[in-house]
Amino acid sequence: MNRTNSESLFLKAKAYFPGGVNSPVRAFRSVGGTPLFIKKGKDALIWDADDNEFIDYCCSWGPLILGHANEKVVNAITETVKNGSSFGAPTALENELAELILTVNNYIEKIRFVSSGTEAVMSAIRLARAFTGRNKILKFEGCYHGHSDSLLVKAGSGLVTFGNTSSAGVPEAFVNETIVVDLNNKEAVKEAFNSFKDQIACVIIEPVPANNGLLLQDKDFLLFLREICTINNTLLLFDEVISGFRLCFCGAAGYYNIKPDIITYGKIIGGGLPVGAYGASNEIMATVSPEGPMYQAGTLSGNPVAMAAGIAQLSACLKPNFYIDLETKTQYLINKISELAKNSKVPFKFFSIGSIFWIAFTKLESIKSANEIDANSMSYFRQLHAYLLEHGIYLGPSGYEVGFVSQAHTYEQLDKTAIAFANGILSLNN
Ligand SMILES: *Cc1c(COP(=O)(O)O)cnc(C)c1O
Repeated sequence: MNRTNSESLFLKAKAYFPGGVNSPVRAFRSVGGTPLFIKKGKDALIWDADDNEFIDYCCSWGPLILGHANEKVVNAITETVKNGSSFGAPTALENELAELILTVNNYIEKIRFVSSGTEAVMSAIRLARAFTGRNKILKFEGCYHGHSDSLLVKAGSGLVTFGNTSSAGVPEAFVNETIVVDLNNKEAVKEAFNSFKDQIACVIIEPVPANNGLLLQDKDFLLFLREICTINNTLLLFDEVISGFRLCFCGAAGYYNIKPDIITYGKIIGGGLPVGAYGASNEIMATVSPEGPMYQAGTLSGNPVAMAAGIAQLSACLKPNFYIDLETKTQYLINKISELAKNSKVPFKFFSIGSIFWIAFTKLESIKSANEIDANSMSYFRQLHAYLLEHGIYLGPSGYEVGFVSQAHTYEQLDKTAIAFANGILSLNN
């Protein structure tokens, strides 16, 4: 495969950006080789700067549930931008997107639009602290919540720990407000509530943890969190930046029918443009400025072009059978790969929910916490990723990242993918 244009673009980019990229995982460090510079996308396909064609399962890390350059989304963007790109004043489009969401989603009553998932979570944490008057937050090892200071924290050693920062530049004082425990561990959560009685503002979780493998939790564990939060007057925060509008229109809250106190959204909500959001009950949202004392603002918040893209995309998600069709396709794909590669020397298993899938090179039947992932197995992913690129299949460049199936993927493309994928698995060296 010719990659000369991507290689020379990457060389230039290294002079302009740290590591040659504007977001670290794009640099291909965990799979090796040169990142592909993408020129164009249409439906399930993308083309790189050397005109190589790929069936894409990264889908911009999740936002593109309709595939690339969906006609309705493109039309909404182009028609809207003709009338100006931003006003810093309210527009009817904000009402329209909010109405679309709030009339269907009974888990929140009010919403505030921001410009990224990180910003949504950062604001939601502030809201939880403002509403409860408490400082500490509890997060789970293996959940990603964007790059705000309080959340760039990983577990220390022990059942319940203050985190160690996972990034330089995060003050110790921030880290000391974040308690980190393992997923799927009720004892650890109970101990945290005992040790920090009346101090925990919120428990934040990806209800479908999908940023460090796919660590599917039992509904029972999520219900346990709901209950222990209620008992302790702690808010339960579902970070649904990936799962929102992905599992079903009402996200994981709807999928499991569990009502958290605050929900954050991102990715799909903006139709491929930068939008995030947080929502809660009227009572909790009354804390937010200008109604209440918690400040939060944004020059480009509720941007009309981004709102129009979100409206176009979410309207398509509301069509009958939209989510069933996506899940059926995803099951078709992973079942076919698993069948074709059943004689693999290297043990592997697909985990999936809705249209999210993840391959783990493991003998375990289930993986529910980050420490069950075998870091050494990532060498298999590296080989597989390289094989798939050579055969026209694009996965996110890390074995800790999940894949996404979009509405645009056709069964013909899934068949082609399954054959390449299975051959890739069968070619792995033990
Ligand atoms: C992607 C993601 C974020 C961060 O969103 P950005 O738009 O990248 O800032 C936060 N939380 C979860 C669960 C995510 O998947």
